[in-house]
Amino acid sequence: MLNPPDPAIVARIAETLRRARRLLFITGAGISADSGLPTYRGIGGLYNDQATEENFSIETALSGSMLEANPAITWKYLHQIENSCRGARFNDAHAIIAEWQDRFEVCVLTQNIDGFHRDAGSRNLIEMHGDIHDLLCTRCDYAATVPDYSELDMPPSCPRCHARVRPRVVLFGEVLPSGAIQHLYRELDQGFDLVFSIGTTSVFPYIAGPVVQASQMGVPTVEINPTDTNVTRFVDYKLASSAAASLRAIREALLNAA
Ligand SMILES: [Zn+2]
Repeated sequence: MLNPPDPAIVARIAETLRRARRLLFITGAGISADSGLPTYRGIGGLYNDQATEENFSIETALSGSMLEANPAITWKYLHQIENSCRGARFNDAHAIIAEWQDRFEVCVLTQNIDGFHRDAGSRNLIEMHGDIHDLLCTRCDYAATVPDYSELDMPPSCPRCHARVRPRVVLFGEVLPSGAIQHLYRELDQGFDLVFSIGTTSVFPYIAGPVVQASQMGVPTVEINPTDTNVTRFVDYKLASSAAASLRAIREALLNAA
């Protein structure tokens, strides 16, 4: 059981929020832990670096080159990841971030592929690793969003041209989507008044970078994560609690003082 958020730190974050206009929320698997999802590292850490049944590393099984050479293997493990999201939905943490769009200019940068920020209603959303529910044809312009994979043949093919279908996710060895990177740069250029890092160990430079940069520019920073991470030493405020409990406490402090 995680500790409740420290009320003194919550009060100081709420005080900073009261003066803020533009907010950046950087989120990782930990924000979806309250929805019952495993906190895996990136797309593959579900397996904790163990080999797959086929004796590949999970990074190899979930790589762009495996999807080309042997799509059945990649889809098998994509299916397992999708299955871990199935039946789960966004939680209070996602909902509060979306709710704050009414009061602040909010940008969400997530490395999660569960689609929960979109489901919760976040509009200015950068899904750096994509969304496992979005499918694309590798040949024609067919695209679809599926609620889950239960109706799909494995591996799925395009209903129009019968070529391979892939999910809109960044597999191991693949480059990040340029549109998402450009979106992030545009947002960073405009600056933020407060930066939150929530539920991510910040192993990726594009996830840690905006926090470190904000800290160096004197922009207030908050980390919500039960454990210490790569950005902990840079942040002004640290809550070692769950994402949902922390954001509920901050929302309450903000409302009480308003
Ligand atoms: Zn097609």
